[in-house]
Amino acid sequence: MTRRGQVLMITIRGDMLEGGGQILRLSTALAALMGEPIKIVKVRGKRRPPGLRRQHMTALEVLASLCNGRVEGLRLGSTEVFFEPGDIGGGSYRFDVGTAGSVSLILQAAMPVMVFAPSPVKLRLRGGTNNPMAPPVDYLERILLEDLKLMGVEARLRVYRRGFYPRGGGEVEVQTQPSRRLKPLVLQDLGRILEVRGLVYSCRLPSHIANRMASSASERLRRAGLDPVFEREVLQPGNPKCSLDPGCGIVLSVKHSYGFFGVDNLGVKGKRAELVGLEAADQLIKLVEGGYPVDRHLCDQLIVWMALADGVSRVKTIELTLHALTCIELTKTILKAEFKVEGDLGKPAVIECRGIGYER
Ligand code: AMP
Repeated sequence: MTRRGQVLMITIRGDMLEGGGQILRLSTALAALMGEPIKIVKVRGKRRPPGLRRQHMTALEVLASLCNGRVEGLRLGSTEVFFEPGDIGGGSYRFDVGTAGSVSLILQAAMPVMVFAPSPVKLRLRGGTNNPMAPPVDYLERILLEDLKLMGVEARLRVYRRGFYPRGGGEVEVQTQPSRRLKPLVLQDLGRILEVRGLVYSCRLPSHIANRMASSASERLRRAGLDPVFEREVLQPGNPKCSLDPGCGIVLSVKHSYGFFGVDNLGVKGKRAELVGLEAADQLIKLVEGGYPVDRHLCDQLIVWMALADGVSRVKTIELTLHALTCIELTKTILKAEFKVEGDLGKPAVIECRGIGYER
């Protein structure tokens, strides 16, 4: 805690644990929910170069707008940020990252605030939709939002245009309905596998690329006894959903008795499309065969929701990541949620959380 004027303020070190952008995004989102000012020092302290990039600046601008708050230190490269929230409000908002910065990462921060607004929120974002080291928007739509629905979150995501590195330009809109309280989430077992879905997408590339990703993944999944249904989205210039730059990827999702999980992979120039599909299929098979209902990315993305929910949530993940531990630390510090973690970093783990029963 530090003192600013007469207000006692939480100070978060942006170089703790994972040390990346998630600390900044999550801690400001939590401050908006709690209506408390927050200071983040050493922003992205473990990244080279450290400090704010366009995506983080847009995330802060979005959060400040959603809660009528204000930000100090909003400059490229800034390593110290002060965020003072006001009241969360509904309405329509539109932001442009201006680069290929990930809109999914901005949504990750904005969504907990959006669902606790007193009226519906519509947020339209322009930037990257399918980026390395970030959830593809399709992952949010097919996996995260499906699990959040089980907690009572009402959110719809629509992709108007894909955006890849380097120019971005993708367009996504999320609409939320107000939630009063969230139900806890228990994802400990798979029960039965009810559906395996695959999406292969490509923009400005020959159609054989998406077809080869789909057929290699599909064949591998079938050999493991899974029966995937694939959608192919092959877009060329002239289609309004086609991106400015070429790109492609795959998203696999599983619906089981208790929820959803999945994996994704991005195509990279020089990497065979078959390998992109096979890598994704192999990761999915590991989750299914091991009986893990939570993939390594879903785990950190669920923490904030578990911490806000009313009651005890429990998830079993294939891998406890530093991202997940970072989210746990922040929600413990800012929300005072309680956690029990069984398992070690980099290994399978069960995470139990007694949420604070946050109420609008
Ligand atoms: P940061 O590295 O701090 O910007 O946070 C990255 C966020 O993106 C974390 O929530 C990760 O779980 C998530 N993420 C990274 N790669 C993927 C991926 N391939 N699929 C889904 N989520 C991802």
